[in-house]
Amino acid sequence: MGDIGIFSTARELLSMISIQNIIDIAIVAFIAYKLISWISGTQAAEVAKGVVLLLLVTQLASLLGLVTLNYILRSVLTIGVVLIVVLFQPELRAFLSRLGRTSFKENSFIRKIFALSENNFVPVEIIEEVTKACVEMGKARCGALIVLERASSLASIVDTGVLLDAQISAELLTNIFVQNTPLHDGAAVISREHHRIMAAGCLLPLTQNKNLRKELGTRHRAGLGISEVSDAVAVIVSEETGTISLAANGSLSRFLNAETLKEQLTEYLTQRESTVYADGFRRFGSDDEKKEKK
Ligand code: ATP
Ligand code: MG
Repeated sequence: MGDIGIFSTARELLSMISIQNIIDIAIVAFIAYKLISWISGTQAAEVAKGVVLLLLVTQLASLLGLVTLNYILRSVLTIGVVLIVVLFQPELRAFLSRLGRTSFKENSFIRKIFALSENNFVPVEIIEEVTKACVEMGKARCGALIVLERASSLASIVDTGVLLDAQISAELLTNIFVQNTPLHDGAAVISREHHRIMAAGCLLPLTQNKNLRKELGTRHRAGLGISEVSDAVAVIVSEETGTISLAANGSLSRFLNAETLKEQLTEYLTQRESTVYADGFRRFGSDDEKKEKK
């Protein structure tokens, strides 16, 4: 008897779910999924966690009737929204411009579903060409800074430079960094998704790390900086010494040669994203000395 009651209630409930409800939930779930995949691995993810926590505490305070606490938290949230817009203006702009650029073909849902397995595939050419270019530039004492995009979008960085959207080759990379040419200043950005050199002459955020050696100037600090605020890896060739370094997750491996550079690039670029995040990216001030290989 009771069983039949449960079944009929379940049937009643099911009959209340309309096709609109399903579409509604599917769209909201899709937007949430998109948002999470866009912000994961960026500073915005940390902020989002904070906001969710604040919202939860506010809701709890309201439920428990803690009027004053609730009032204060609500005020903080209101100011917070304005603060977030101001602080994350570049990210928001990049997000919106990316939204505008999204084409169905490029970002089809199916492709995103298989993104993990696809992202594990990095054409050997990217690693080969970048390594070849860096070794050559090192020998020639030609300063270079190459950023390789991984999961977090570098759209806002690409916006600061000159758009190239060119096929990757060691020759072109070497050419970009020839002294006194228009594109040699700043960083070249390589997109892993498109396997192309997206831009050159890009401006990167400098690291705030105070424990760095004095001989590491702004080129190295820029490479480290981008590896702190995103999961991108940066290869730096020193103009002064020809030393090749690689910045990843906020730390610097120095004195690399063709083999060790190729090894590290392969490791970072073919690593699954989740492993990178699990490692807690952007550990601020992680000492570069530890990883230095003399
Ligand atoms: P090197 O060993 O090659 O001398 P360094 O670490 O000592 O490198 P600097 O000598 O200060 O660095 O290098 C200056 C160059 O670094 C600039 O000409 C420019 O190309 C690049 N650079 C400086 N700041 C940035 C930045 N914020 N973003 C991108 N590139 C930058
Ligand atoms: Mg210098």
